[in-house]
Amino acid sequence: MSVNKHDLVVIGAGPGGYVAAIRAAQLGLNTACIEYEPALGGTCLRVGCIPSKALLEASERYHEAKDGLGEFGIKVENVGLDLPKMLGRKDEIVEGLTSGVALLFNKNKVTRYSGRGRIVARGLVSVSGSAGGSGSAGGSGTDNVEIEAKHILIATGSKAAGLRGVEFDDAVGTSTEALSYSEVPKKLVVIGAGVIGLEMGSVWSRLGSQVVVLEYLDRILPGMDLQLAKDAQRVLAKQGLEFKLGVKVTGVRKQGDRRIVEVEGGEGVECDKVLVAVGRIPNTDGLGLEEVGVHKNERGFVIVDEHFHTNVPGIYAIGDVIGGAMLAHKAEEEGIACVETIVTGYGHVNYDAIPSVVYTHPEIASVGKTEEQLKAAGIAYKKGIFPFKPNGRARALNATEGKVKILADAETDRILGAHILGAHAGDLLAELAVAIEFGASAEDVARSSHAHPSLSEVIKEAALAVDNRALHM
Ligand code: FAD
Ligand code: NAD
Repeated sequence: MSVNKHDLVVIGAGPGGYVAAIRAAQLGLNTACIEYEPALGGTCLRVGCIPSKALLEASERYHEAKDGLGEFGIKVENVGLDLPKMLGRKDEIVEGLTSGVALLFNKNKVTRYSGRGRIVARGLVSVSGSAGGSGSAGGSGTDNVEIEAKHILIATGSKAAGLRGVEFDDAVGTSTEALSYSEVPKKLVVIGAGVIGLEMGSVWSRLGSQVVVLEYLDRILPGMDLQLAKDAQRVLAKQGLEFKLGVKVTGVRKQGDRRIVEVEGGEGVECDKVLVAVGRIPNTDGLGLEEVGVHKNERGFVIVDEHFHTNVPGIYAIGDVIGGAMLAHKAEEEGIACVETIVTGYGHVNYDAIPSVVYTHPEIASVGKTEEQLKAAGIAYKKGIFPFKPNGRARALNATEGKVKILADAETDRILGAHILGAHAGDLLAELAVAIEFGASAEDVARSSHAHPSLSEVIKEAALAVDNRALHM
């Protein structure tokens, strides 16, 4: 077996790993990245963020063409669904972006190895057997190699969690299957009212499925602002999603082609597809962590310090595999901070300024602390809330649902959190994430000029409302 030498080897080419590899190469490290799947880009590009957003956009356009254009005075007849084409478009977008990562590796001189990475010892990683890819290792065409590197970065991400009593089969699956159903299910049961449940539930509901969402807790979207989560539930229910909260799923029974989702103390729900979306678990199988002594917590996440260093010198970890918010951009920031610390001695992630967006219609977006978190921490705060309804652009867009909520420190006025339910909430939120990063006050945002007519004026009004001086209410 040949032994190749690099300064840094990254295991996993998801948004955490591939971005870390590029940044490390920019900083002058001789960098390698090992990926098991034939395509680069990880969960996010292959079976996560990108394909789900492609289907959310396509299904929203279908739904709008079918039922939403009349109000604009546009008559549309015979709107039809070409599902294979819709799925094909999604696959093309994924293909374009994943092959783009390969180009970025070439441009930045990151050496790509195809196969499964395993940490054999400190400073030594083996690569074996790819999942069916080109088999190119370091561009030299062999699979089984060992890599010597002073620094090893674990960026192996996560996989869908299963549920006790629920076996996966051709009708019961995860988000990966729900991104490619070949027919619109007549009835879809989604287990879990988290981000995946709401996004994929919305996709199939818009395309014609009857969707029932079963959630264990008494609320949807745990962790997000409670008031906006309740508003979102009301809006999504109006769109046709049926929510059953406080429900414990005990199993799924086969009845011919149909499935019965059994729940504790209630009647089972019959359907033809089941999407299990109850969270994700770290991906550390066969990575050699036990052998080299890398510590994991009780839920299996790799434990790191504030510089993403594990307990073993020279071994670092970032992204979904270390837990926290399972978000692509959080993984990216951690990857960058980790390699910058390795090279420059300094790197930092401000977790209070990491935005989070649910791409339903309208979108639900959040950054910083929620009211619930501030109350629990005993932090005194002021809040400003402003609805989209009076906003001129929102009316022109026929998108008046929702509101912006800004939370600011009661004494200093510094923005501590911001939460938006509304059209383009994810894009609008960027301003408030930057405001938090810069330590801005609500008054700073309120005094900044916002274009008219634009949805961003709702943010300005919410910032004014923190000081009880909104203008258009
Ligand atoms: P991953 O993206 O999981 O990448 C890890 C990579 O490591 C994988 O490619 C895997 O094949 C590889 N790997 C694992 N073990 C080995 C090994 N031993 N050797 C070699 N390679 C290995 N986040 C957002 O921010 N926005 C969204 O809109 C969004 N939508 C999502 C939609 C869905 C349906 C799902 C499932 C997730 C979504 N996410 C979204 C979450 C996002 O995908 C993850 O947070 C992100 O991909 C984590 O990045 P990562 O680099 O840590 O891990
Ligand atoms: P999640 O943690 O967002 O939601 C899981 C939901 O399932 C929770 O509401 C939880 O209470 C519920 N649940 C857990 N066990 C249950 C049970 N036995 N019965 C019924 N309900 C149960 O997880 P997810 O939706 O699977 O998404 C996984 C990760 O992927 C998330 O961390 C999310 O951040 C990420 N993701 C992000 C985006 C985005 O940023 N737009 C999109 C999709 C996924």
